Parts: sequence; structure tokens; C-alpha cells
Amino acid sequence: MPMNPNSLKLEELAWPEIGALVKEGWTKIIVPLGSTEQHGPGLPQGVDTWHGEETSLRAAAQLYRTLVSPVVPFGYSPEHQSFPGTISLRRDTLTMLLEDISESLVRSGFTFIYFWFGHGGNWAVARDCLHAIRNRWPGCVITFTEDIDRYIAETWDSYPLKEGIALEISGSHAGEFEASVTAALRPDLIRLDELAAGDPRPLNEIIESMMKYGIESVSKNGVLGDQRHPDSDRGNRYLDCMANWLIQDFNQQYKKNEK
Ligand SMILES: [Zn+2]
Repeated sequence: MPMNPNSLKLEELAWPEIGALVKEGWTKIIVPLGSTEQHGPGLPQGVDTWHGEETSLRAAAQLYRTLVSPVVPFGYSPEHQSFPGTISLRRDTLTMLLEDISESLVRSGFTFIYFWFGHGGNWAVARDCLHAIRNRWPGCVITFTEDIDRYIAETWDSYPLKEGIALEISGSHAGEFEASVTAALRPDLIRLDELAAGDPRPLNEIIESMMKYGIESVSKNGVLGDQRHPDSDRGNRYLDCMANWLIQDFNQQYKKNEK
């Protein structure tokens, strides 16, 4: 069996390959959590799912013997529910899903399971669930991007400035940041004529109203930021920025949990 698999994606490997890889020490895996939710008039619904998976793959390519689970395309997105097409899971459903994914991966021999967030709304649900199950299986570590505030501060809320993009443009949801990422990953799916500006305020100023009354209470078109400036090269650099952060956090957590 090859030491280097043909793919880092679990769903593209066959069971004998996976069994052999686990025996050879490929026991670490990233599980990307995405969502199917509105991203304004100019972007499709899968944005969080695609960048969650892509950053996981870019990171895994540089991490030691690490695979990537299929991305979970549904998440906790009740704040987007009033827009057509958004699919949101109940808290309990997502909790049970994360437990079942963890248990299945543990049964397969994985010993370090790291959940990563393409959609930030999954974080609070995942935190409660993953803290509760982190020591359920002796010898296995179930972990995730614990410091989501630091992640946002060091990527979404600072990197665009280095590119000369103001944060009210890059935005926290479906703005330039995600438009550029989509331009890098799925340029065919951008509705160039429909791209629109939304509410420019930072997330911490509007999150309360948004979670209580839905995102439409702060932005009628569902955009936070301004999606009219997509650039695929910049999108690729955004993806690398997120992947580099993932690598650093993953390695830190791995070291912390090493016996
Ligand atoms: Zn998004």
C-alpha cells in the first residue's frame, strides 16, 4: 500500500487503502463543517461548504499524515432561514451528527479528529458538543478551532487590510471576502450582474439583532459587506491565509494533546 495516498479526501479512498494508511500512522483527520445558506443575490449557497473544504485540503497537504473527511454541507443557520433555499439543522441534529461522525472515525482508527468551520454559526453548537465528548474514547482527541475570535481577528478581520480592502467591503458574510473566494473556487457560479452591497457594519455591532430577528433585520439582501469586488487571485490568498491559520492551530493543538 502506498505511503502517499492518491487523495487526501476520505471519500475518494477505498477501505483497504484507508486501513493501510491508518496502520502507517495516518491517524489525523480534519472534518470541515459547511452550510447551505443564502449569500446575497450574487453568490450561490454553497460558499461556506466550498471554502471550508478547500482550506482543509490546502492545510492537510502541508500537515503530517493528515486526511480530510467529506465536508458537512448543512449547518446551524437559523438567521438565514427567511431566504429561499437555506437549509438549517436543529442544534440537536448537528450535535448528534458531530457525535456520530466522531464515533465512526474513532472506530476506523483515527486518533486526532479536528473540526474546522467554513460557517462560523456552527461554532457554538460544536463547542458544547465537542467539549462533552472530547474524552469519550481513551487515546483519542476530539478537538476543533477553539479560539474562533482569534481566528476571525487574524484572518477575516485583518488580512483584507493587507490587500488594501476595507473591512466594510470585505465584510463578515457574503461580502468581498467570500466573493473573491468564490471567484477563486467556482468563478462560473458568480452572478456578476447581481452582486450587491449590503450592511457595512462590523459583526459585533449587529450580531444580536441578526441572531434574534434574522439577518434581514440588518441587511435586506442578506449581504454584510460589499460583494461587488471579486478577485480570484485575492481569493486564493484569502484561502491560503485561512489554511495557514488552520495548520498553525492544528499543530498547536496536536502538541498540546501529545502524551
Ligand atoms: Zn459564508
